[in-house]
Amino acid sequence: MSAPAALPGAPHLVRDGAVLRLDGHDLAALGRRFGTPLYVYSRRAMLDALAGYQRALQGRRHLVCYAMKANSNLAVLQTFAQAGCGFDIVSGGELDRVLAAGGDAAKVVFSGVGKTAAEMRQALVAGVRCFNVESEGELERLDEVARATGVRAPVSLRVNPDVDAGTHPYISTGLKGNKFGIAHADALAAYRRAAALPGLRVVGIDCHIGSQITQVEPYLDTAERMLDLVVQVEAAGIALEHIDFGGGLGITYTDEAPPPAETLVRRLLERVDARGFGDREILFEPGRSLVGNAGVLLTEVQYLKPGRTDEGGRNFCIVDAAMNDLMRPAMYQAWMRIEPCRQRDGVPLRWDIVGPVCESGDWLGRERDLVVQAGDLLAVLSAGAYGMTMASNYNTRPRAAEVLLDGTQVHLVRERESTAELFARERLLPG
Ligand SMILES: *Cc1c(COP(=O)(O)O)cnc(C)c1O
Repeated sequence: MSAPAALPGAPHLVRDGAVLRLDGHDLAALGRRFGTPLYVYSRRAMLDALAGYQRALQGRRHLVCYAMKANSNLAVLQTFAQAGCGFDIVSGGELDRVLAAGGDAAKVVFSGVGKTAAEMRQALVAGVRCFNVESEGELERLDEVARATGVRAPVSLRVNPDVDAGTHPYISTGLKGNKFGIAHADALAAYRRAAALPGLRVVGIDCHIGSQITQVEPYLDTAERMLDLVVQVEAAGIALEHIDFGGGLGITYTDEAPPPAETLVRRLLERVDARGFGDREILFEPGRSLVGNAGVLLTEVQYLKPGRTDEGGRNFCIVDAAMNDLMRPAMYQAWMRIEPCRQRDGVPLRWDIVGPVCESGDWLGRERDLVVQAGDLLAVLSAGAYGMTMASNYNTRPRAAEVLLDGTQVHLVRERESTAELFARERLLPG
């Protein structure tokens, strides 16, 4: 047997002989104990990912606001809250979760293009750190709600930096022509408007240029554009206390090699310091990079359905997890590594790993060379981000259970749903 070896991009996930371990725990044993489909997360992996940001930000005023839409389990939020994090939220429901997990509203930034008046009121009353405002219409509405509520609304404008698409085509939210943010060219006017509205108090500037970004350059380009704006806005007499560089740092799913968070942050801070803004509080909103490689989805092989080789047919490995449990492959054609929890000897066959949902788009992985038998457990890797939070009940499938590993401890942090819960709020017609 070879020495235990960490899997790419996931130092906490180790192949130890035939056994796949997360943080030392035998994943097959966890799958048998709690049933499948099952999400398993490593608390240590999350905190190690956070530590990269924290090391680079040490000694300067800063706030890491975990973008909780990546994984909003209460125990995960509690982990980050206890580590000093704030949160980037995109709904009133997420604010409820932060508070239920013991998080501090004063460390919450509220993002999103469609905040309702009710959500604004809720966030004002809770006392959030700031609203990341994405349009002039939202500024007007927030001003009205703030005055009616009797709480001045702290405001940061989300600027769309329009970073050059030619050089960085993978950026999806920081370009002209998408719904996010206020166009760079309109930002100064929007700041003047915000400063003139009595219900608002301008506190900062914000951006978020996309997700699964694997290079430093788009961030540096964005920083220059943002800092240009800071100069203009402050020349207009509007002080900006904080600069928020958003989230979006990628992780390794297959062979991507994103910069370590520590490197990215240091490079950005060099620019901030060089431009003379080293005294400002610096915010980040990482989601995927804090939790993505800290989690796996475990699933059990139900049936093997080999294709007829004489017809060039595909081999289907039908598992008990589906697109409703993990949407990324079906939704984005995302490639996620799939590993057997117990490696078998033998000659691999090429399998399409598919779920039981009645959709041809219901697959977790295509053309994977594996030695599998019915009853085996498989792990879908890098499933800690945008996994459980995007799960649905399609096909009346109860959502998976979630387990959080904390050193040698194993905590069930979400029970599996029952089918009765799924229709508990439905009503039969009378008679
Ligand atoms: C989703 C989101 C993030 C986090 O993005 P990741 O790619 O998961 O790091 C940060 N800020 C905003 C406004 C977002 O919508």
